[in-house]
Amino acid sequence: MTSKIFHSTVLVAVLVLLCSLVTVMGVLYRHFTGVQVEQLKDELSLAVTGTEQYGNAFLENVEADRFRITWIDTDGTVLFDTQADQNTMENHADREEIREALGTGFGSAVRISSTLMEQTYYEACRLYDGTVLRVSANGESAWSLMLGMLGPVILIAVLAIGISAFLARRKANKIVEPLNTLDLERPLANDTYEELFPLLRRINRQHLQIESHMRKLQRKSDEFAQITSHMQEGLVVLDKQSNIRSINAAAIGIFRTDDDCVGSSFFRLNHSNALRQALNDALDRGHGTAMLEQEGRVYRFDMSGIRSNGNLLGAVILAVDVTQAHSGEQMRREFSANVSHELKTPLQGIIGSAELLESGMVNPEDELRFVGHIRKEASRLVNLIEDIIRLSQLDEGVDMPTEQVDMLELAEDVKLLLKNDAAEKNVDIKVSGDGFSLLGVRRLLHEIVYNLCDNAIKYNVPGGTVSIHAEGNCLRVQDTGIGIPDAHKERIFERFYRVDKSHSKASGGTGLGLSIVKHASAYHKAKILLESTPGKGTTVTIRFP
Ligand code: ADP
Repeated sequence: MTSKIFHSTVLVAVLVLLCSLVTVMGVLYRHFTGVQVEQLKDELSLAVTGTEQYGNAFLENVEADRFRITWIDTDGTVLFDTQADQNTMENHADREEIREALGTGFGSAVRISSTLMEQTYYEACRLYDGTVLRVSANGESAWSLMLGMLGPVILIAVLAIGISAFLARRKANKIVEPLNTLDLERPLANDTYEELFPLLRRINRQHLQIESHMRKLQRKSDEFAQITSHMQEGLVVLDKQSNIRSINAAAIGIFRTDDDCVGSSFFRLNHSNALRQALNDALDRGHGTAMLEQEGRVYRFDMSGIRSNGNLLGAVILAVDVTQAHSGEQMRREFSANVSHELKTPLQGIIGSAELLESGMVNPEDELRFVGHIRKEASRLVNLIEDIIRLSQLDEGVDMPTEQVDMLELAEDVKLLLKNDAAEKNVDIKVSGDGFSLLGVRRLLHEIVYNLCDNAIKYNVPGGTVSIHAEGNCLRVQDTGIGIPDAHKERIFERFYRVDKSHSKASGGTGLGLSIVKHASAYHKAKILLESTPGKGTTVTIRFP
């Protein structure tokens, strides 16, 4: 802007200067020409008077150093000339001023020299005898006048341009200075040119609008950050080059990264082909999914392409932890397979024994043994079906009626129920402790104590003991049996898991007892503690909250 003001000012100054010079020169030129013509006319009238009175004698003696006097006959022949020999001069009849004078009595003309630098003024008058007297003088042409003044004109022009440039710069800086110091943050607080106020008011209005938009955007962005930071699902927003634009806390946890990953490629977080393929599907076709196992957890990634007016902007990735559902699904599959297998085995035993009895191939003394086998397998089947029903009830998580249960009393009941089994195995069973009572589901608490005691007898040794101790908030079942090797301790609470399958089956085990204990304890928010040494015995403690 400063240079624009500067250039315009200098240009105006130069134009004004040029116009002034041309005008002054024109006026001067006209003035000098007028003076010269007047002088010439005066000289002519003197010369006419002299020539009419004294003829050639006047002309020969006249002092004509500044003027040239020529006397021309009526036919154009030069009769006398003060500067040349009249005999060598050509006929003047066709000269403009002569023709005019011959015709009207007076004539005048101006002729420019071939170099344009000089011009000659002619004034002619017809004498009483018809001849013509002409006076002429040389003067500078306008062109030569201009050339003559060129030096001073250039000097003045340079000076004028210099001064106007200097003044223009100062003025331009002075005009622009208040504009440069404008406070655009607070437009209305400026003390500046009045003409700027409509603009400043507009800027102020726009400021207010922008501030309000910014506040709204900030609020929305804060809300978004709040929502996404508290989400349990991982959320990642990518641009179309698959670079991370935003990532929430959950996703940072899933990929074991930090905030610095924003701006870098998503594939730096995970190189898996499944994710790459899903992202390609999302970008190309709008949606893609992938399952990924990360640090022992299973995640499902749902990816969607983001488009606006048909243009691809990027993708959004939602990562959901499906570990539970995944393992639940897997457990259900395994459970169904196990149940079918566990049901089939006793049934096959029953059918086999029944077929043998039917065929009559069994010796009468063995018949009782076969019938006993059928009864044993059938009761194992019943046990199994009962255990499955209990477990599925626990799986469904239905609310069951609770009541105050005395755990010492419960232990005594179980002892009574298992008395025969214990005696059969030559195992001594006793109950001890001050006892305690709790608000719980009697049936489930009974299952816990029964299954733990049943195992303590089943996996005991002849002459061994089982002690049930109820005190404080703990129920402890201790045996002196075969114990459980460390490698199996983690898994014995899984459904159908047995350390020794044949031992379990021989003693009528279903492989579901400890699963029921686990679920029934969880239902009461109780913790299970297992201590076992192979060859020495096992202690299971159930600690109620
Ligand atoms: P099962 O019907 O086979 O007894 P459980 O679920 O009750 O099934 O127990 C799972 C496995 O844990 C058993 O097969 C057995 O190998 C082991 N087990 C359970 N309790 C004891 C114990 N007190 N002593 C030794 N092993 C045990």
